[in-house]
Amino acid sequence: MTYEFIPAYMGISTFMHAKHTRDLSGVDMAVVGIPFDSGAASWRSGTRHGPGAIRENSKQIWGYNRHLDISPTQELNFIDYGDIECDPTSIDRSADAITAGINELLATNVRVMALGGDHSITYPLLRAHAEKFGPVALIHFDSHTDCYQGITQLEHGTPFWLAIRDGFIDTDAYIQVGIRGPQTEAGELEEAKSLGADTLTIEKCFEMGTAEIIKHLRKKVGDRPVYVTLDIDSIDPAYAPGTGTPEVGGFTSFQMLQMVRGLEGLNLIGADVVEVNPHYDHGAITSILAANLAFELLSVMGKKLGDQRS
Ligand code: MN
Ligand code: MN
Repeated sequence: MTYEFIPAYMGISTFMHAKHTRDLSGVDMAVVGIPFDSGAASWRSGTRHGPGAIRENSKQIWGYNRHLDISPTQELNFIDYGDIECDPTSIDRSADAITAGINELLATNVRVMALGGDHSITYPLLRAHAEKFGPVALIHFDSHTDCYQGITQLEHGTPFWLAIRDGFIDTDAYIQVGIRGPQTEAGELEEAKSLGADTLTIEKCFEMGTAEIIKHLRKKVGDRPVYVTLDIDSIDPAYAPGTGTPEVGGFTSFQMLQMVRGLEGLNLIGADVVEVNPHYDHGAITSILAANLAFELLSVMGKKLGDQRS
């Protein structure tokens, strides 16, 4: 008798053992790695190794999501597209390569789940999505506002003010969740708010609880096309130490899972999980969490795609 079940540790590390291909015919959803960290100007680099670590630690995720009652990678045509080739010597050239790469996927109506990389990659991701969908609603989980106007160059502290300046974000529906930590100067939160962000500090989040946060997010976004960007440093470093700029006093991994599952039914048109830095990880807990959050986002995305078809 032969053993028919293939153990999870076998095989080349694609996301959840998905087929790696660049053939987009009939594809519904794709995981795309963006191994770029030259935008990590403020503190520790190393997130270029994020996509590889997340893929490696996604292999043990079994396919069925009990909470959302879907097997997203099986019920939909799902691939691992591989990585966008970035140029570590140029943020601008890399941003152009990212937008061009994502445009190709969006042109055939593929939904993208991007794995970073530092948070500067979300600017070119939003640029591509806005070209297709118009200015998008944005749910931004982070401990930082990433709206620092003191710097005019794209790097991981500036993607959202630049994206607002360039019209990629629908500022009637832009929410930041989990903001905390010492700021560079007084007025940083006001700066984000004046750009149009609905900024929920971590204190406010804990006062509200996840059920209230979910209600708030859903009301703000409505049925607009929404993009979700999830900076892993929104989670407490006790649960996600493997990141470039950790800030103490954040969400638990369970709270973040609850919030992502709470997005079920929204018109999720794209997502990323960024700032995973395996060099500072322990026991791969950050990469395992990031892989699971990507799986939850794919579940929300896949469920909506399935509903839109039937
Ligand atoms: Mn960030
Ligand atoms: Mn951050």
